[in-house]
Amino acid sequence: MVSEYILELSIYLKTYSYAHEPGKLLVYSTARGAIVKLDSSVLADARDQKLSDQEQALLAKIGVLVPDRLAEQEQMRTLFEEGNRRSRQFTALVTMNLDCNLACGYCYEDHFRGKRYMTPETADLLVQYVSAQIERGLDVTLDFYGGEALLSLTMMKDIAARVRHKASEAGTQASFNLVSNATLLTREVAQELKELGFVSVRFTIDGPPDVHNLQRPFVSGKGSFDRIIENLDQTCDITRFELATSTLAKLKNILQENSKNTIKPHKHCILEKAFLHCSNL
Ligand code: SF4
Repeated sequence: MVSEYILELSIYLKTYSYAHEPGKLLVYSTARGAIVKLDSSVLADARDQKLSDQEQALLAKIGVLVPDRLAEQEQMRTLFEEGNRRSRQFTALVTMNLDCNLACGYCYEDHFRGKRYMTPETADLLVQYVSAQIERGLDVTLDFYGGEALLSLTMMKDIAARVRHKASEAGTQASFNLVSNATLLTREVAQELKELGFVSVRFTIDGPPDVHNLQRPFVSGKGSFDRIIENLDQTCDITRFELATSTLAKLKNILQENSKNTIKPHKHCILEKAFLHCSNL
């Protein structure tokens, strides 16, 4: 029986097709962190408001349906504002550019790629905004990102130096992380960044050289594996590396198996050394 009391689909839903069972969808409520497998017809009925009370109650329990989408949005905004108000920490992801020296086939920024760099005016506005957070007594962490953030090294160092200076005047902490493809991370760069308060570098390896080079070549088409390994060798006593779980697992496999013996012994040692410097092992 169709209900007279109609609930609406949450605005915080993501749906994915489920290859193992055609006709089913995985529905993820980002607001609740709940995931459920549904017939696509159930979702269509929910959209067309044709579900029974019992069906609606079940879906409401896991946040797929809500009484009022606007109220839900307002609730979420309040939650974030309250979290930010209580936090003693200000964290921001800073996109330095949308340019890159690699041409990974799966690059999700592909459509936006180009010679697009943060302008000095935007950098000033950023420092101004972060300084205001420092004046509120907050510790700040900036994660620098791209494209390839190291293509904007001069500006990135300038931002970090100004923020660090402001924090030291105010008696708060400023720290920085770098997300990079690691091809430009020379020893000299790593040393400079460390002195400015950079605490970690996140990078990616996609597998052994044949796999990685295919997926993450330079723009010229040349593989990037060897350059990354050289840079790890040069910087792993200075830099703390952080790896995504998937990269960590791949690196572990490369080290354990090296099944095709595609990595020369000295490079294997370098990888091992870098692996041991990963802070999130
Ligand atoms: S390193 Fe990152 S930004 Fe550069 S091409 Fe690869 S995925 Fe895109």
